[in-house]
Amino acid sequence: MQFKDIVGQKDIINRLTSVIDSGRVSHAQLILGSEPDGSLQMAWAYMQYLCCEHRVHHSEGPLRADSCGECPSCKKIASLMHPDLHFIFPNPPNGSDSVSANDYMKEFFDFMLNTKALGTLNDFNDSLSGDVKTSIIRERDAANLVEVLNMKPYEGGWRMVVVWKPSRMKREAANELLKTLEEPLPQTLILMVDDSDEQLLPTIKSRVQTLRLKGAGTEKVESNAEFAAMLVGWLRMLFKLKMKELSGQVDKMAALNREQQKQFLLYAQSVMRGCFLNTAAGVEVHLGSGDEKFDAQFPKMITVNNIALIEEALDDAVFAIERNAYAKIALMELSFRMSKALKKR
Ligand SMILES: [Zn+2]
Repeated sequence: MQFKDIVGQKDIINRLTSVIDSGRVSHAQLILGSEPDGSLQMAWAYMQYLCCEHRVHHSEGPLRADSCGECPSCKKIASLMHPDLHFIFPNPPNGSDSVSANDYMKEFFDFMLNTKALGTLNDFNDSLSGDVKTSIIRERDAANLVEVLNMKPYEGGWRMVVVWKPSRMKREAANELLKTLEEPLPQTLILMVDDSDEQLLPTIKSRVQTLRLKGAGTEKVESNAEFAAMLVGWLRMLFKLKMKELSGQVDKMAALNREQQKQFLLYAQSVMRGCFLNTAAGVEVHLGSGDEKFDAQFPKMITVNNIALIEEALDDAVFAIERNAYAKIALMELSFRMSKALKKR
């Protein structure tokens, strides 16, 4: 898995690679993103970059660095065959007292390779037998992890463990892990990957460095012509701020069902990020409004001065929609915040 295979998130990736290049790798990290959004891909690509023998640096383009994808280490990590790479994940009971993620490792590798790490926990559970509703990370999983981390690394480099869905970790398992998190062994990396840290035990949360992915990857965002037209229509209204017209535009957005509203907002977010990368780094962006002048002018409105405000406003709107807020009010509030942010360029 290389960073170039991940949709979006390039600014975050550039930060990560520069931290790795500088040798300041934090030994326990939590990657958060709403699934399926590439958070597991991010962990995979991160480890590949960390261990790559010939990291590649680019002087232009959105991605400043990536693993080579060719060296023995890259190949082992890409195929999940690296002897110092370990995974733990929620696993269902199978009638044995000693059940652990190790009993499902083949299924997990197949899942990772077949979905390119874009599958959800539900997708993975579908491939398992057992009562997946009771899939958890067990004390035994944590004990296995501590054991492998205490062994000498086979390859002499990093020992890496990915903990997928740590929020499914039982308290006993977390306790088992705590010492490792508090007193890390050298050249040890624990990457936790989840869609939320709300259920995560505070003792764990306080000991990991958290990396939040921006929105969801554009993989799941539909970028159809209807969304493009709706977005452009809305953006125009945000400049004019004529209440009646804006209200009519918002009505059209509110008429979508909730999932579509969310998709639309994620689409808007990915377009805004594209516009910002256009302003900041000259990355090409296609608004597809059908109006060449608008397509050429609009991206310039998104700058370092307002991108954070815009992302935050869109994040909040997605959050409100997900929690069944009254759509029209959430979208009107979003409109005012966006309008204000656009003036701050
Ligand atoms: Zn490599």
